[in-house]
Amino acid sequence: MQNRRKFIKNTLLAGASFALADNVFASGKKGKKPIVLSTWNFGKKANTEAWKTLGSKGNALDAVEKGVRLIESDPTERSVGKGGRPDRDGHVTLDACIMNHLFQCGSVTFLEQIENPVSVARMVMEKTPHIMLSGEGALQFALAQGFEKTNLLVPESEKEWREWLKKSEYKPIINIENHDTIGMIALDQIGNLAGACTTSGLAWKMHGRVGDSPIIGAGLYVDGEAGAATATGHGEEVIRVVGSFRVVENMKRGMSPQKACEEAVKQIKKLFDKRNADMSNTQIGFLALNNKGEYGAFALKKGFQFAVKSEDSDLLLDANYLS
Ligand code: ASP
Repeated sequence: MQNRRKFIKNTLLAGASFALADNVFASGKKGKKPIVLSTWNFGKKANTEAWKTLGSKGNALDAVEKGVRLIESDPTERSVGKGGRPDRDGHVTLDACIMNHLFQCGSVTFLEQIENPVSVARMVMEKTPHIMLSGEGALQFALAQGFEKTNLLVPESEKEWREWLKKSEYKPIINIENHDTIGMIALDQIGNLAGACTTSGLAWKMHGRVGDSPIIGAGLYVDGEAGAATATGHGEEVIRVVGSFRVVENMKRGMSPQKACEEAVKQIKKLFDKRNADMSNTQIGFLALNNKGEYGAFALKKGFQFAVKSEDSDLLLDANYLS
């Protein structure tokens, strides 16, 4: 019992020092133009939601959390949060993470019955000494923090799953589990970057499968001194190259966000070639933003869209692609 009390006390102290560090860092920089980017066409409404915070001088971390929550809570979006397609056993299992410009981050994987995993990830970041919580442990933590259980499997997803069960063939088809993960990256008016990434993962995945999206460095990475990046598509391929970290490191070495995304996609293609593997059903998309507010995007295949919002633009764009 004493240990437990000590743990909670230390945990709260850790949270307090995070908040302090944030203010100290933030007070040094002023006068950036806020901008937010997100993956796929649902990114447009997510950006509008994030802009309520960013456009009124709010911080990037709050903006990305609120932005992606909108998609998590929308049962008509069938690849994220409530409404997400289940695994092959009929369970909707969610992956999400969040990260700020100070390398503070939190993540949940294989979480069931909670509508807003990104907010649980934020609490992991702010209220525990850990970075990742998974499965039953993540659920227990969420419930202890006041999140409520909800049924994430909507009738449409259940119907599709029952249809899928008839053949039970696992064949991901590119851009079909379309509007997949929402990855969002943002720069706020004091020049701080943050990002969030949340998904129900590949439809009909094996029970227990975790993709790239909640893995810091794979689905999302933020380095306050350089830039932020996020990924969508076939998670296994993104994990192999630690995709988002790679994109951010490319920017750190001087590449533009566009070039940084292109290099990461080319590396993935190179690994396919090396393994002599078929990539006809694989899609990968990267999105990057540097701390000057410049951005870029690139995909393996045609069909990856992303949304950008700033003071003077509100766009849905088609990303360039390799082949
Ligand atoms: N990257 C996600 C995963 O592999 C899914 C996606 O973005 O399509 O779980």
